[in-house]
Amino acid sequence: MSGLLSVFFHLLLLFKLVAPVTFRHHRYDDLVRTLYKVHNECPYITRVYSIGRSVKGRHLYVLEFSDYPGIHEPLEPEVKYVGNMHGNEVLGRELLLQLAEFLCEEFRNGNQRIVRLVEGTRVHIMPSMNPDGYEVAAAQGADISGYLVGRNNANGVDLNRNFPDLNTYVYYNEKHGGPNHHLPLPDNWKSQVEPETEAVIHWIRSFNFVLSANLHGGAVVANYPYDKSLEHRVRGVRRTANTPTPDDKLFQKLAKVYSYAHGWMHQGWNCGDYFPDGITNGASWYSLSKGMQDFNYLHTNCFEITLELSCDKFPRQEELQREWLGNREALIQFLEQVHQGIKGMVLDENYNNLAEAVISVSGINHDVTSGDHGDYFRLLLPGTYTVTATAPGFDPETVTVTVGPGEPKLVNFHLKRSIPQATPTRRVPNPGHGRRVLPKKVQPRAREEDEETKRPQRVPA
Ligand SMILES: [Zn+2]
Repeated sequence: MSGLLSVFFHLLLLFKLVAPVTFRHHRYDDLVRTLYKVHNECPYITRVYSIGRSVKGRHLYVLEFSDYPGIHEPLEPEVKYVGNMHGNEVLGRELLLQLAEFLCEEFRNGNQRIVRLVEGTRVHIMPSMNPDGYEVAAAQGADISGYLVGRNNANGVDLNRNFPDLNTYVYYNEKHGGPNHHLPLPDNWKSQVEPETEAVIHWIRSFNFVLSANLHGGAVVANYPYDKSLEHRVRGVRRTANTPTPDDKLFQKLAKVYSYAHGWMHQGWNCGDYFPDGITNGASWYSLSKGMQDFNYLHTNCFEITLELSCDKFPRQEELQREWLGNREALIQFLEQVHQGIKGMVLDENYNNLAEAVISVSGINHDVTSGDHGDYFRLLLPGTYTVTATAPGFDPETVTVTVGPGEPKLVNFHLKRSIPQATPTRRVPNPGHGRRVLPKKVQPRAREEDEETKRPQRVPA
């Protein structure tokens, strides 16, 4: 008997020592417990926060990884993953929980790659954007889950068709001139979106996210913007057409980084579909209006792609380990992509940070802006670029910069206050015959002085 017991305890010990991360589906309570478990295991590099609640009052939790959780460090980019936006597409939710456990464990083990990532990047992981839909799908179970059961939120709304449509504005502006970045929200936007969408919009406006992926299921492909085609509907029929952004080459590269680091996505043939290199422009696959990825690109500095990760939207528990092994490297490599192109500070002559300065790259009709701390991030492929920083009340500054394939190049801007335009003054007859008179300094008029005081407030360092 005691021999049997000892064998039992040995087995228990062995199991505990080599206990793999458990691969199972996590219901809401289990998900919350798992996030806090990771936080308790890695308290100094993580933070759990909620961005708001679903229709049924469930929290939309985010787990943040950073060497200073809760703090934006200038020049350290913010990146995010959003899973389970469609409640019945559950693989992303489970992969993000695995990723959270993996980042924590590997950081603790001193894995240099993960240590570098956590110390140089602020990573925000939201395993579920639609916890209500998930519960409906999970109640049905993996085997009998219908194709659409649990897709929408508790009000029956598809959250990936619920963001303000900014494409219509940008397509108009591309033709007739107008801004190509940070398009404003419509006045009545809050009345048109669901609580989950509203929470996400507040979230992505309050962090200066640079890169993001939104995890779905039902196909295996990395999908990049635009999702909405230029002619979304013609006579009631949806028009499919490749609709590239001004950053098309960069988006293709971001998508390929994921598909080629993924176990099989890059092979192209998956779930009965074929996508060359395992990537696709969203609108050339099917046109979709009011999606989240286009909104990120058109309203904020964030470049988001949509990852379709499994043919089966609700894979069986036994599939989860294989899926994790197929996605692990891709999930890490994609986060590392935030470190490319150029970044730097935009400062005035007195070294004050300039927030919301506009960074334009000649030849790419899409600008980014500096964040509250005066730092900016511009993802770029290797090449030589002419980059201009502008801010109201300051002279623009232009530099030429060569970007390599490795770490981002540091390019700081020191903007000088513009000298107010000389106002033409009435000519006064020169009193000093034969004497040279130095021109009087032209005083700015009162109106210009008023404008001076209206200039945007600078944010102190
Ligand atoms: Zn989906």
